[in-house]
Amino acid sequence: MKRKTGFDRSKTLNWRLETRMVRGGTLRSDFDETSEAIFMTSGYAYEQAEDAAARFKGEQDGYTYSRLRNPSVAMFEERMALLEGAEDARATASGMAAVTAALLCQLRAGDHVVSARALFGSCRWLVENLLPRYGIETTLVDGRDISAWAGAVKPNTKVFLLETPANPTLDIVDLQAVADIAHAAGAKVVVDNVFATPLLQRPLEYGADVVVYSTTKHIDGQGRCLGGVVLGSSAFINDPLLPFLRNTGPTLSPFHAWIMLKGLETLTLRFDRMCENAAKVADYLADQTGLLNVRYPSRKDFDQHELAMRQMQGVGGTILTVTVPGGREQAFALLNAMEIIDISNNIGDSKSLMTHPASTTHQGLTEAARLELGITEGMLRLSVGLEHPDDLIEDLGQALRKVGLKG
Ligand SMILES: *Cc1c(COP(=O)(O)O)cnc(C)c1O
Repeated sequence: MKRKTGFDRSKTLNWRLETRMVRGGTLRSDFDETSEAIFMTSGYAYEQAEDAAARFKGEQDGYTYSRLRNPSVAMFEERMALLEGAEDARATASGMAAVTAALLCQLRAGDHVVSARALFGSCRWLVENLLPRYGIETTLVDGRDISAWAGAVKPNTKVFLLETPANPTLDIVDLQAVADIAHAAGAKVVVDNVFATPLLQRPLEYGADVVVYSTTKHIDGQGRCLGGVVLGSSAFINDPLLPFLRNTGPTLSPFHAWIMLKGLETLTLRFDRMCENAAKVADYLADQTGLLNVRYPSRKDFDQHELAMRQMQGVGGTILTVTVPGGREQAFALLNAMEIIDISNNIGDSKSLMTHPASTTHQGLTEAARLELGITEGMLRLSVGLEHPDDLIEDLGQALRKVGLKG
């Protein structure tokens, strides 16, 4: 492989973000292709037996088996590291594989984890159900409350886990303040940065140690395939992450890595437009009478507006929530009345998608746990896509009229 285009870290670090996303990490084969090649291979051949022995010993550069490394996946990992400003990255088959690996690789029986309670449903399951099975203690806190993080620390606390903005409540966690508490306690901070993306928020700059993504969301961004990535220091990636990934095998397919590379090429364009559209839709919904509550971080009426804008470069993101007064019945009626916006629990797609978290992404929680988070029966989560915002607004308008929330 030639390494002339985008794998020379010292050169690519001089590139601006847009250039990194189009060219970062590119390896070019002897065929001089412009688009990154898809290396659909599980294994690699060696010239001589001595080469195989040297590669297995780590004394010779090169690939050995695609559970360990693959050139297409390596291109995606390098491009993500450049985007995040991380020393290194490893891709996984899904966002949940990334979160699971980031936690399990560094925890053992007897350790303690402090986690924000407002989490994606499966992340919350990991913390509440999976970790305790292996003798890892966990404490859930209100992530917005800095004193709660400090109060939950124990002598055996090893990891803090959080999402900001959280799915679906949009709770914001003060990254710097929480990282300071974690580090004072000798713990590492793992941040799930799916909602903000590296375009709005790079948690490592605020002291986080590890960042994870579901690249299924904005990075593919076109609803095609699942993927994930774990980013951090070279030391963290080399050990403990790599031995865990290599031996447990939650590997990203080379084909999916290629789709993610293509997604990154247009990420700034898509994401900027989706955020603009989301802000317009949020303002429209907030202007309608009869709606209980619209939450969108860049609106002045968002309860953590100042912190959100400070951490997210003044942009609200692609996701908002709207809570209707008539509970589940009215929320379902509104979903069913939509003609353009799909009923779907994915986010970050170029198609606008709406879901009822209480009956889908967070149905696994008890009702009490949902209410503690503010996930009521009337709450809907809307991920705004790339359609014309006026079409989305008209679609919401006709649906609101049908359910009696607009005159
Ligand atoms: C979707 C999502 C995940 C899980 O990602 P998958 O790719 O679906 O496995 C984790 N965290 C957050 C915040 C998400 O939105």
